[in-house]
Amino acid sequence: MEFLPLFHNLRGAQVLVVGGGEIALRKSRLLAEAGAVLRVVAPEIGAEVRELIERSGGEQILRGYTESDLNGCVLIIAATDDEPLNAQVSADARQRGVPVNVVDAPALCSVIFPAIVDRSPLVIAVSSGGDAPVLARLIRAKLETWIPPTYGHLAGLAARFRHQVKGLFPNVQQRRAFWEDVFQGPIADRQLAGQGAEAERLLRAKIDGDAPPTTGEVYLVGAGPGDPDLLTFRALRLMQQADVVLYDRLVAPAILDLCRRDADRVYVGKQRADHALPQDQINQQLVDLAKQGKRVVRLKGGDPFIFGRGGEEIEELAAHGIPFQVVPGITAASGCAAYAGIPLTHRDHAQSVRFVTGHLKNGSTDLPWKDLVSPSQTLVLYMGLIGLPVICEQLIKHGRSADTPAALIQQGTTVNQRVFTGTLANLPQLVAEHEVHAPTLVIVGEVVKLREKLAWFEGAQATV
Ligand code: SAH
Repeated sequence: MEFLPLFHNLRGAQVLVVGGGEIALRKSRLLAEAGAVLRVVAPEIGAEVRELIERSGGEQILRGYTESDLNGCVLIIAATDDEPLNAQVSADARQRGVPVNVVDAPALCSVIFPAIVDRSPLVIAVSSGGDAPVLARLIRAKLETWIPPTYGHLAGLAARFRHQVKGLFPNVQQRRAFWEDVFQGPIADRQLAGQGAEAERLLRAKIDGDAPPTTGEVYLVGAGPGDPDLLTFRALRLMQQADVVLYDRLVAPAILDLCRRDADRVYVGKQRADHALPQDQINQQLVDLAKQGKRVVRLKGGDPFIFGRGGEEIEELAAHGIPFQVVPGITAASGCAAYAGIPLTHRDHAQSVRFVTGHLKNGSTDLPWKDLVSPSQTLVLYMGLIGLPVICEQLIKHGRSADTPAALIQQGTTVNQRVFTGTLANLPQLVAEHEVHAPTLVIVGEVVKLREKLAWFEGAQATV
């Protein structure tokens, strides 16, 4: 190991930065975040650095570096583009036995800055020993996506109860088991979901020795429109800890593959008018599984709260006192529009956008037509394929121009995406001509013309 990682407590400590430009700014920012008192020496010092110096209660020295600038400093940073000067600073610091970092010159450093993932108080440092900083940064980026931003709150929670738990379990092994359980179970889930008070309540109950809750939990997760790259971090995390996954037809296999390998997968179907399981049975199944103590992911295409019947499912869960979380997903309208090059709003063409279902509860397509014909409103029709001839006819009849541009987007965001554009007048014909099938989204409005203007091409974005 070329460098031993240590974490340096700089709170209130004097740190010397030689240089007042861009590089000095980056380092000063980090040092200030760690609570250091900055002493910056350079003939010229940028405004942002000066502000940091002031905030840290430090001093600026507007001249060239001299050896005595090191006095009283616990860490030295050379951040100039003057190589001999950097070498001099390094030599002086080493002579005094003070740790020194020279930016971009590992050979002159006794300490180096790692790439940092900051989930304070949890901090992860990644280093390549100065050999490949880009590699270290890439690893950092991966860690950033893995570890939820709220992860640090878990450490905060632990800190608040540390002494109490220590008193409860004098034995280290028992203590470790206790915290492992906390960090990997429902208590952590709550904290990460932003429900800090509930997490604290559960932790208190655990400390008091109350029986742990035997019910599981249901996560209503929006899986997005198809491209797995569009999942949220939270969706992925919950999918990877689920015991059971209930999914329907809209969820792409590539997304299902991202669920925990040994999770049970239950297909609950749902095709228009061909429900593999009626909704009330799905609701019941969610309740039953959670009562068995399972962590259940209910995976839904798009967003669970947009034509996803998510509301009905959580009503049932709430009625049975089952804890649940709802994870939003990218709805078909956003996904398809982005992947088809059709902005849903545009200052010149559409000041509002309306999401409409083409399939009403009673099976009809009896929409509030008068509200849907404003030329400056984009219409997005979900489940609009079957009723399309009626929809187009009624829109025209109620005053929307027959040559309003319109698009059909089949299997949007996936590699199988197909887009057909036409007008309100010929849209149903396009469906027949190209054998368009579900899932297909319909977008009606002037904005559809922008696709041509943007010279959009298929497959520009889909990853799977
Ligand atoms: N909750 C989902 C919508 C469910 S309704 C969401 O937020 O996206 C089902 C309808 O959504 C389909 O009939 C189709 O109109 C639309 N849809 C969903 N995914 C789609 C996709 N990848 N491409 C095109 N349309 C899609």
